[in-house]
Amino acid sequence: WVGDGFHEEFGAGRYETTLSERTATWGRERVGDDAVIALTSSETGRLIDCDGSEIERVARRLTEGGAGTATARAYAGHQFGTFAGALGDGRVVSLGWVKSLDGTTREVQVKGGGKTTRTRDGGDGRCTLRSTIREFLCAEILAALDVPTTRLMCVISTNEGVVRRTKANSARLEYGGMSVRVCEAPLVRFGTFELPASRRDFDCVRALADHVIASDLFVGEIDDVDRHGALLCAAARRNAITVARWMSIGFVHGVMNTDNTTVCGTTIDLGRFGFMEAYDEEFCSNPDDETKMYAFGRQRSVARWNVERLCDAFERVVPASAHRSALCAFDDAFENETKRLNERKFGVRDDDGVVSSAFHRVLRVGGFDFTRAHRALGEIASTLVESSSSSSERVVRNVFARLFDVDAEQLDRSVDDFARAYASALSSDARDARRRRLTQDATNPVFILRERDVTEAIDAALEDDWTLARTLAHRCATPFRDEILS
Ligand code: AMP
Ligand code: MG
Ligand code: MG
Repeated sequence: WVGDGFHEEFGAGRYETTLSERTATWGRERVGDDAVIALTSSETGRLIDCDGSEIERVARRLTEGGAGTATARAYAGHQFGTFAGALGDGRVVSLGWVKSLDGTTREVQVKGGGKTTRTRDGGDGRCTLRSTIREFLCAEILAALDVPTTRLMCVISTNEGVVRRTKANSARLEYGGMSVRVCEAPLVRFGTFELPASRRDFDCVRALADHVIASDLFVGEIDDVDRHGALLCAAARRNAITVARWMSIGFVHGVMNTDNTTVCGTTIDLGRFGFMEAYDEEFCSNPDDETKMYAFGRQRSVARWNVERLCDAFERVVPASAHRSALCAFDDAFENETKRLNERKFGVRDDDGVVSSAFHRVLRVGGFDFTRAHRALGEIASTLVESSSSSSERVVRNVFARLFDVDAEQLDRSVDDFARAYASALSSDARDARRRRLTQDATNPVFILRERDVTEAIDAALEDDWTLARTLAHRCATPFRDEILS
C-alpha cells in the first residue's frame, strides 16, 4: 500500500478468522453463533481451494494482530452529478491480496462485517442477507456473460438482525448478511483519486497513480512516455468496454456514481441493478433515481462523464491534451466493443449500425423482451439463410409471432424494415451458417436474471429454504444453456 490519505489501517484482531478447507468464518465478533455459509461461488471457490496457502497467509495476517491489518479505504465521489466530498468504505474491509491460479493478483474483502473507521452518518457497517444474495447472483451472471465484475466468494447468513429504515422512516428488522468479495487488486475507484485532488494534494494523486501503474492491473497497456496520461486512457477504455458489455445484455447498474466506478473497469456495487425486460431506453432500475439519470440508455454518456471527472482529478498531473485523449479512447473503445458484440449477436458485420438500429426499433415499438428477442436472432438468421427464396418479412414476422404469442399480421411495420436490412446483410456475408449460429447462441443468452426470480429465491432463503437460490445461482453461472428452470 502506498501513502496515507487513501487508506487507513483497520483494527487488526477485530476479525477472528478460522479457515478450514472449504469454509471460512469471518467477523465472529459480529456474527451470531450459528452463522452459516449459504452460497459459494464455484469458480472463485476453486481459486481459493487450489491456492490455500495464499489464503492462509491472509488469514494469518488477520489473526496475528499488529502485523495483520485490514483496511477501510477513503475515497470521494460525484453522486448523481454532484460532488459529495469525503466518502469511504463504510462496510467493506480489504483483508489483503492473493495470487490467483492465472497468476493475477486478487484482493479479498469482507463486506458487511461491521463498522469501519470510514463508516458515516450512523451507518451500521452491515448488509442485509437479501442484498447480499442479490449481489451474489448478479455477480455470478455478469461473470458468466463475460462482464468484468467483482465476485462474491460466498454469502454468509449471520443469523443476526439488521435494522433498516423504510421510506416512511419506520424501523424494520431484516436478516443480516455478509460476504467475502474477490476482485482485481488494488480496487481503486475514480473517487479514490478525487479525494486527494479535492484537497489539492496532487503529489498524492501522482503517488496513487504510480501505485496503480506498478500493479498487475494494466500490464502492457501503459507506456513510459506519459504514464499518467496513459493510465487515464486505459481507465477510459476499460470502462467503455464494460459499459458496452452491460448494454449488450440489457444490464442497468443503477448507481453510476464515480465512487462506484473503478479504474480497472470492473463492475462494483451491485445493489440497485436491474436487467431490462421489455425494451425501453428509459428503463431505470433504481427507484431512488427520480430523474432517471442512470437509465439504460444514458449509461454510455454517464460513463463518459465519469471519465471526465477522473481527468479533472489529474488536472495538475497531466497536460490538457491527456483529457482529450482519454475521451477519444473512451469513444473508440465503446464503438469498437459495440461493433464486436453486434457482429457476434447478429452474425454479420454491422459497422454502420443499420441492422442493430432496425432491430432495436422493433423491440421498442413492440415492447419485446430484450433477452428473448436477442436469443431468437440465431434462429432468424438460420431461417433467413435457408429460405432465401421466400419473403424475409414473412420469416421474421413468423418468428416474432410464435415467440411472443402475437398475431403475425398485427406486428408493426418496423419488423419488415428489420427483416429486409437483416436479410440483405446476411446475403452479402460469407461466413459458414453453422458457425454463425454457434457464435450467436454463445453470445445471446437464453437466461437472464429477472427480478421476480430473485425475489422468489430470496424470500424462500429467508425462510431457510435455499433450494431456489442455489438453482438460480447455478442458472446464473450457465446462462447459455438451454434448460428449463424447474
Ligand atoms: P453506495 O450508495 O452503496 O455506493 O454507498 C455509499 C456509501 O455509503 C459508501 O461509502 C458505503 O460504504 C456507505 N454505506 C452504505 N451502506 C452502509 C452501511 N449499512 N453501513 C455503513 N456504511 C454504508
Ligand atoms: Mg458504493
Ligand atoms: Mg451499495
